[in-house]
Amino acid sequence: MTDPTSEHDPRRRIPRTDHLLALPEATAAAERLGTGAVRTLVRQQQDRARAGDLAPEDVPAALVAALTTRRSTSLTPVLNATGVVVHTNLGRAPLSPAAVEALVTAAGYVDVELDLATGTRSKRGLGARAALLAACPAAEDALVVNNGAAALVLATTALAAGREVVISRGELIEIGAGFRLPDLITSTGARLREVGTTNRTHLLDYARAVGPETGSLLKVHPSNFRVHGFTAEVSLAELRTLADEQGVPLVADLGSGLLTPEPVLPDEPDATTALEAGADLVIASGDKLLGGPQAGLLLGRAEVIATLARHPLARAVRADKLALAALEATLIAGPAPAGEYVRADPEALRDRTERLAAAVDGGAQVAVVPHPGRVGGGGAPGRELPGWALRLPEVTARRLRLGEPAVLARVHDGGCLVDLRCVPPAEDGVLAGAVRRALTGAGAEPSRLEPA
Ligand SMILES: *Cc1c(COP(=O)(O)O)cnc(C)c1O
Repeated sequence: MTDPTSEHDPRRRIPRTDHLLALPEATAAAERLGTGAVRTLVRQQQDRARAGDLAPEDVPAALVAALTTRRSTSLTPVLNATGVVVHTNLGRAPLSPAAVEALVTAAGYVDVELDLATGTRSKRGLGARAALLAACPAAEDALVVNNGAAALVLATTALAAGREVVISRGELIEIGAGFRLPDLITSTGARLREVGTTNRTHLLDYARAVGPETGSLLKVHPSNFRVHGFTAEVSLAELRTLADEQGVPLVADLGSGLLTPEPVLPDEPDATTALEAGADLVIASGDKLLGGPQAGLLLGRAEVIATLARHPLARAVRADKLALAALEATLIAGPAPAGEYVRADPEALRDRTERLAAAVDGGAQVAVVPHPGRVGGGGAPGRELPGWALRLPEVTARRLRLGEPAVLARVHDGGCLVDLRCVPPAEDGVLAGAVRRALTGAGAEPSRLEPA
């Protein structure tokens, strides 16, 4: 090793911190990322040069490159090449351009609780409420809260705390990552009154359980699994007659967020059908098949919604202005990306996949294969959406994840499957570049691997 005090040691030529911080790119980046993050990136380039991984004269250029790829959030955009539309690990539904525009509008001061005409206070979420009611006229009123789980907790607390929630044993589901509906329900102080069996529940089971202790009748869509064989469940229309006889509210937790029937997913329940069948209240998520931001949607009879809106817990689970703005825009702007991806034409997917195969020029390493897409996010379990994928060697999956842009493909059966269903067609060229680099192993040690 050279003596660092020697005149000839290249380390003496590493640019000084104050010099690097004064670069115009560095001062501009400091406004976006904060000075701390810029100093860290400066130190990292100097360290690389000291370790001999970077020539001293290349340090400024390496710093500029690191600054331009560094984002103001630690979240990294990912191209979803899994074929799973509502991908929980990728933030569920991607927002429509209209919803993104609404987010930016709502980011500053906005009249979220102000009537500009009179200068007095107004109610929060009126725009989102109006858009929901226009999209689902079967509902008399609507309330938006933080997410689907919050909607269920609010409804259960306001209607059944200290009393019983009557629910079928076949509908006591886990919604993901250890979160179980029964635990959520009992956390509100309501008691579970389980009826029927795992596979079969009859109207008589409910009728025997309903009485003076009943707070609500709850029907949950078992959104993430299917029971086959000797099964029976009671429809909302049948439960409606019981609810009327006993004067108890009938609540339906649908999960998926469809407001009207989706022809491609005939088994997936929707809010309009559930309300028309007699539900007093419907609960759904905003970021599943509706294709909007994280939100809990409560739709139903005016007096039930009013009861929930008045409850103190409503304040603790209220939706933020960004979600309200994005939800309203999603509803008004027409088909959101998630809906389009569910309905994607298999022939068009095949064409795009074949063009991708030609563009990456991977020879025998790549093949176009049939590959079913999925709704995901606990929706339409077992339903395969016909489509195609580009099959690559399994080693490319990690390189794709760590590349720029990051691409999440599906690792399956010894291969890496790149499915274009949920990739915006405008990104096909970018994706082809990423696949090409992953196949050759180029860019396999990108800057994102380094500690920040
Ligand atoms: C997804 C889901 C929930 C939870 O909704 P979040 O928006 O994730 O909080 C509740 N019930 C059902 C049936 C679901 O599918």
